[in-house]
Amino acid sequence: MATNRTFTMLKPDAVEKGHIGAILEKITASGFRIVAMKLTQMTKADAEEFYGIHKERPFFGELVEYMTRGPIVAAILEKDNAVEDFRTLIGATNPADAAEGTIRKLYAASIGENAVHGSDSDENAAIEGAFHFAGREMF
Ligand code: UDP
Ligand code: MG
Repeated sequence: MATNRTFTMLKPDAVEKGHIGAILEKITASGFRIVAMKLTQMTKADAEEFYGIHKERPFFGELVEYMTRGPIVAAILEKDNAVEDFRTLIGATNPADAAEGTIRKLYAASIGENAVHGSDSDENAAIEGAFHFAGREMF
C-alpha cells in the first residue's frame, strides 16, 4: 500500500548556490507539506551508509565526497502519492534529461551534482526519513 510520505535532501550544491528558498517554494507550491526539516551535514560514514546501495558503482567515491562537502537541507514531505509525485517534480537524475520546469532542470548542474534527492520507494522513504530524524522531530 502506498504511503503518503517521501524524504528529500537539498544537496550541497543547491545550498551553496543559495537555492534553498526557491526550491522549498516550489515543493510547497506543488502541494507537499513539510513534516520534518533541518540544515545538517553528513559525515563520510553517514553518506556511505545512506548511499550504500551504490557502493560498487564507479561514482561512489565522488558521490560521498560531494554529499559531505557542506550542509544539506533534509526534509520529510507529505502528499498523496508522495514518492512518485516528488520524483516527477525533481526530474531525471541527469538534468540534461530532466523535463522542463523540474527542480533538476532548473537548478542542477550535472548528473553528479543534481541539486536534490528524492526517495525511490515508500520503503526507502521510511528508512531515509528515520536515518535523519527522530520521531519527535516529525510533525
Ligand atoms: N550519480 C552520479 N553519477 C551517476 C548516477 C548517479 O554521480 O552516473 C549520483 C547522483 O548525485 C544521484 C545519486 O548518485 O542523484 C544517486 O543515484 P541514483 O541512481 O539513485 O539517482 P537518483 O535516485 O538520485 O535520481
Ligand atoms: Mg536513487
